[in-house]
Amino acid sequence: MKLAPIGVFALLASTIGKFGFDVLVSLLKYGVLVIIALMIHAAVIISFAVKMIGKLSPVKFWSAIRPAMLVAFSTSSSNATLPVTMESVEKELKVPRVISSFVLPLGATINMDGTAIYQCISIFFIAQVYGIEISVAKMVIIVLSVVLASIGAAGAPMAGVLIMVMIMQSSGVPTEGIAMIMGVERLMDMTRTTVNIIGDASAAVVMTQLEKNA
Ligand code: ASP
Repeated sequence: MKLAPIGVFALLASTIGKFGFDVLVSLLKYGVLVIIALMIHAAVIISFAVKMIGKLSPVKFWSAIRPAMLVAFSTSSSNATLPVTMESVEKELKVPRVISSFVLPLGATINMDGTAIYQCISIFFIAQVYGIEISVAKMVIIVLSVVLASIGAAGAPMAGVLIMVMIMQSSGVPTEGIAMIMGVERLMDMTRTTVNIIGDASAAVVMTQLEKNA
């Protein structure tokens, strides 16, 4: 662990040596793109699900889960945030304990929508920097693999990167490209973890409504 910063520095230096300083501008664009994609997913798709299926006002939903979002953002861990997520949805959104205690721990382990979005953009970005053509069919395979693999990612900091390495290997994208995105990884992890726990909380709200209808 102590040697990791030196290793990342060396890999980054060799990547910049190979592709020039322009790669840093691309890195900035990549970071902004990941954040915008995550925000669109949370603000549009999740709010839509909460409103249409969960029958709850998105404003109420967002204000209730603010504490959990803050903890997720600062710890980069869905698992560490779990107690706060449970408290927020139970106390503020009146999700019954029987639902929250099943949906949220399960969601913290397998529901990683933010991680899946991050992994897709990262793999396509690295492939683009290395000039690797990705056909539409391969894109579909990568997206499906990422969705399935993100289920296996632990709710811990940087877990998504480890899983991404396997997908990159199987799809012929050079894994050393990861060094390039390491510089912004912490910020990416904070943002995607926040979206992961928002997704979990929305699932609890949706399940509560579905149970009411059942
Ligand atoms: N840090 C994320 C989480 O805990 C997992 C990841 O690395 O994508 O949800």
